[in-house]
Amino acid sequence: MNIIIAGAGAMGCRFGSALAYSSCQVTLLDNWQEHIHKINRDGLIVTNEKGSSQILIRASLPGNCDHKADLMIFFTKSMQTESMIKSCLHLITEKTEVLTLQNGIGNIEVLSQYISENQLFAGTTTYAANLEGPGTVEAFGSGTIEMMHVKGERKKQTKKIVSILNEAGLRTELSADILKSIWEKAAFNAVLNPLCTLTSSTVGTIGTYGAIVDVVSGILKEVELVAHAENVRLDRQKVMRVIDSVFDPAMSAHHYSSMYHDIQKGRPTEIDFLNGAIIQKAQKHKIAVPYNTLIYHLIKMLENNRIAI
Ligand code: NAD
Repeated sequence: MNIIIAGAGAMGCRFGSALAYSSCQVTLLDNWQEHIHKINRDGLIVTNEKGSSQILIRASLPGNCDHKADLMIFFTKSMQTESMIKSCLHLITEKTEVLTLQNGIGNIEVLSQYISENQLFAGTTTYAANLEGPGTVEAFGSGTIEMMHVKGERKKQTKKIVSILNEAGLRTELSADILKSIWEKAAFNAVLNPLCTLTSSTVGTIGTYGAIVDVVSGILKEVELVAHAENVRLDRQKVMRVIDSVFDPAMSAHHYSSMYHDIQKGRPTEIDFLNGAIIQKAQKHKIAVPYNTLIYHLIKMLENNRIAI
């Protein structure tokens, strides 16, 4: 089984190393030359709570890779999906299965402009990782994955992908409604990512603000209206309960969102695929989304400030 990981950031490296350990032929594709060079020269260093290990794994720039993928897993940031799929079309045949496990709304739409929906699978994951530097990834704790074919078809191929991931120790289940899961995860991220970033606070600190429920409900009610207009059965109360649980200082007292880190490092954020995607879809349905609109512009201003410095 030839697996290509399209986007070898934190999550791509975590998943790629687990799959390589379980005897799949894995290639990490990325555009960061120093990272690719380091992995090819010294191996990929993966650290977790048990310590650190070095794994020899093939890494390549998309244009330099020349073998076709049986399975391609997308793990770029959402704003890189289009450029990545364009640069690896030569690695995809009509038999290649393409799976996106990225966060945000819109990756399925982008990928299906370039490949047939018949070969497209999607999922969400609660696994987490951080790229410490070129060639070094930190894997945090355990997690889960849920996935399905985007049209709910191709049951045999879906089961095969589920079992490949499970054999690699990546706990994966078949989803009954992946759009619901993707939107609920995006709703969670559309609340916590910008609030952490705009207030420079940990998730735990945000939860201590007296009127936080009003702020969170304001954002989530808009996301729910848009989701339902899109025929996605998002359960706002469920998202609210998950957010409440991470406000517990025992869970996330020291946790800053990935968007906060992106802004601190002067990198673009996934805002266009979170609150930005909600605004776009709301316009189509003529739904007013003032909370999401303000949040979107504030994050865009922060992105702009960083670029302008
Ligand atoms: P990442 O930021 O680690 O990497 C994304 C891309 O940026 C990669 O191509 C990487 O090589 C490049 N990059 C990173 N640092 C760079 C640097 N210093 N110089 C040049 N290029 C650099 O992305 P990620 O965290 O793995 O996220 C991928 C997708 O998975 C996103 O949609 C994200 O929201 C989602 N996700 C992430 C986590 C997590 O814990 N990281 C968890 C669940 C889902």
